[in-house]
Amino acid sequence: MTANEIRDSFKKFFESKQHAIVPSAPMVIKDDPTLMFTNAGMNQWKDIILGTRDPEPRRRADTQKCLRVSGKHNDLEEVGHDTYHHTMFEMLGNWSFGDYFKEGAIDMAWEYLVDVLKLNPEDLYVTVFEGSPEENIPRDDEAARYWAKHVPEDHIINGNKHDNFWEMGDTGPCGPCSEIHVDSRTPEQRKASGKSGRDLVNQDDPQVIEIWNLVFMQFNRKADGSLEKLSMNVIDTGMGFERLVRMLQGKHSNYDTDVFQPIIKAEQQLTGLKYVTFEEEQEAPITKQQDDINVAMRVCADHLRAVSFSIADGQLPSNAKAGYVIRRILRRAVRYAYTFLGQKDGFLYKLVPTLVREMGDAFPELKAQQQLISKVMKEEEDAFLRTLDKGISLLDKAMEQLKAEGKTELDGVQAFRLFDTYGFPLDLTELICRENGFTVNEEQFNVEMQKQKERARNAAAVENSDWVELAQGEQQFVGYDYTEYECHILRYRKVTQKKNEFYELVLDYTPFYGEMGGQVGDCGVICNEAETIEIVDAKRENNQTVHIVKQLPKDPSAQFMACVDTDKRDASAANHTATHLLDYALKQVLGDHVEQKGSFVSPDTLRFDFSHFEKVSDEQIREVERMVNEMIRQDIHIDEHRDVPFEEAKKLGAIALFGEKYGDKVRVVRFGPSCEFCGGIHASSTGRIGFFKIISESSVAAGIRRIEAKTGKECEELLYQTEDMLRAVKAFFNNAKDLQGVIKKYIDEHDAMKKEIESFQTQAVERAAKQLVGKAREVNGVKVVTAVLPMNPAAAKDLAFKIRAAVEGSLLCVLGTHDNNKPQLSIMMSDDMVSDHGLNAGQMVREAAKLIQGGGGGQPHFAQAGGKNADGLSAAVDKVVELANL
Ligand code: ATP
Ligand code: MG
Repeated sequence: MTANEIRDSFKKFFESKQHAIVPSAPMVIKDDPTLMFTNAGMNQWKDIILGTRDPEPRRRADTQKCLRVSGKHNDLEEVGHDTYHHTMFEMLGNWSFGDYFKEGAIDMAWEYLVDVLKLNPEDLYVTVFEGSPEENIPRDDEAARYWAKHVPEDHIINGNKHDNFWEMGDTGPCGPCSEIHVDSRTPEQRKASGKSGRDLVNQDDPQVIEIWNLVFMQFNRKADGSLEKLSMNVIDTGMGFERLVRMLQGKHSNYDTDVFQPIIKAEQQLTGLKYVTFEEEQEAPITKQQDDINVAMRVCADHLRAVSFSIADGQLPSNAKAGYVIRRILRRAVRYAYTFLGQKDGFLYKLVPTLVREMGDAFPELKAQQQLISKVMKEEEDAFLRTLDKGISLLDKAMEQLKAEGKTELDGVQAFRLFDTYGFPLDLTELICRENGFTVNEEQFNVEMQKQKERARNAAAVENSDWVELAQGEQQFVGYDYTEYECHILRYRKVTQKKNEFYELVLDYTPFYGEMGGQVGDCGVICNEAETIEIVDAKRENNQTVHIVKQLPKDPSAQFMACVDTDKRDASAANHTATHLLDYALKQVLGDHVEQKGSFVSPDTLRFDFSHFEKVSDEQIREVERMVNEMIRQDIHIDEHRDVPFEEAKKLGAIALFGEKYGDKVRVVRFGPSCEFCGGIHASSTGRIGFFKIISESSVAAGIRRIEAKTGKECEELLYQTEDMLRAVKAFFNNAKDLQGVIKKYIDEHDAMKKEIESFQTQAVERAAKQLVGKAREVNGVKVVTAVLPMNPAAAKDLAFKIRAAVEGSLLCVLGTHDNNKPQLSIMMSDDMVSDHGLNAGQMVREAAKLIQGGGGGQPHFAQAGGKNADGLSAAVDKVVELANL
């Protein structure tokens, strides 16, 4: 079976078991402060598991794009070195939210692997949780009992908390789990090791590996470390797709399957180097050099996928947070390609077409954004290779210095600086040092690294205490229809961030829009007769609005009226509607390749990022503005559809964004021809926007442009500012009617005068040169010209060169000039003064400039210095003559 067929068979099997087949959530997570990337299939169901979202349909299955490069699940350093951990991988999963539990999950998993896929049961081992006295959880006898229906006792193994108690992160849903492991050793390997598969389970043997984990979610881990029981039992399973493919294709490395081989073939073609497969390696052991090449090719093939999928999901490499994680992955690949595959120019981006050909059908976001992915990747690679070059030349210098000092060890502080400033990883520094016979003080490096980590941790530390529950229930958002609503507080918690303390509230009914989709959150108050509490911000977390307050109400369980600040809300709404019109107009004017890549909407401004590969011209900007303003004047009313099934919304022609997480039911917002999936707050009609004006257009990253614009009242202010400025300018020109003509005339006159002055100056310099040369003294065969006179620095330089041209034979010319009381010293000499007399104008000017309280330098035959003390000029001139010692 091919990889694509295997993926389909999984979906088909669970469909036949009444599971709804759902799409993968984006790999990049946008509204969960505890998690940057999806690291397991269950992430997108976290709120269902915690009981804050409707669990219907209760059986679901999917393939989920996962990334394990940060936080609790971080496999980055393994990737490439082993053959079964990836940064980005697909996790096949099936879920039951309060439907079947352990028995159902175990039976289905067995049926799929053994009856459908025909894996040999003798090669399969399963683990069950051995229990944990300190958490007061007994051994999972129940799971063991169900397994015993399918496998002999000696294929059931007890596992500890590390392997058999699954947790998403430091807090959140968790529970005991049962893993299925496959012994995929070759007959020769089995014979040689003499061990049974049972002895190798969870022992990091690359041929006895876990493929499927069935998690029995029963608890929620709270911030204080304690466990609380979930309101329903949840089945959450995750099977590594690439590992399954490998088992079914009879391979011994994930990289030898058709998931990776096409990419590796392309790498071989581009580099002219060979990748040695597991089978080939069994026949003849490989050299260290070939092993390095193998690792590097695996790293590049893996990271290509991770970076491409992130970009497709809207996460570009950047300097902060998720963007920085992606940048680091890309740099890791560049470094391996640079060091072991000899790639001194961009390389990864050349593999994008192969990836898109192989995976573009299953993941259309790749196909749609291929051009952007390649562009961004190339630019990132180029930029990093330039830093690598710079780092290498710095390292060269450092090694030269070491050699001069007779040392053989580069100190760790220096290695850390290379890492920190130039992104130069320690292993690369070590490699280059080693090649030149030096070592690196790794201990010192680690100390510096630790120091920096602590600095970062202290700066970003956020502490959340546990939620205090006042009432049970789900929050209802009523903000599309109301700006005031009666409410109670469901739960609250304290948050400490950089010593600031505030509280987060979850209300049962809320008109407050929490920051999402680029639109800032509402502010306002909650109040009753007893008190008024200000809501300073509203954020979105796990599908609900969290209200930020500085203090808790005295009686948190009282009833309140929640009131949104409507002035700010209306202004934000108008700006949000304007971004939809802008998006539409950009597509009309620039073309269909325009894709929203980010937006920011607040009461006073709007920002819109989109894919486009060149500057938007002034004419195009005008055209966009005209189109948007025309739609504003048409005063088109909002046509809003809530709870539309996703597929139906697509048929309506609504524009969905890649990397955005949509539920089964979506909201569609239409203003005339503009139709988008959108959960934001909008103006009731386009006329409310008033007016639209773009104030800037710029580039934010390769292939991404940014437009900033203003609407309504802000435009009015903009107009007044422009008007005031123009009025002031007119006043300079006596309120001339033809302002442009008058300014043009002034500029022409100014240019003509400048030319005239320059010509006068040239003449004056020529005269002065003649005079000074005429008055020159002669000392031991050297013509000495000295003078102190008023003159600007450019003319002084000119004069010095004219004098040099006019004098045949040896010359020492020293000019002290002053311009508006600013002194300048210039020394000009003939070449023989340097070669035969051993003089150096640069050194002399530095010494003599002390007398004018200044400094300077230059070439051996010509040097200048500025200063502060014009009274010292004539002494400085004499000093130079003295230094020449003629
Ligand atoms: P391992 O011990 O092999 O790292 P895990 O215990 O971290 O696996 P789970 O968190 O249970 O794995 O994830 C479920 C399944 O996802 C695993 O059984 C495995 O098949 C797959 N998987 C986990 N991590 C990776 C990875 N980095 N690359 C590819 N597949 C993975
Ligand atoms: Mg793991």
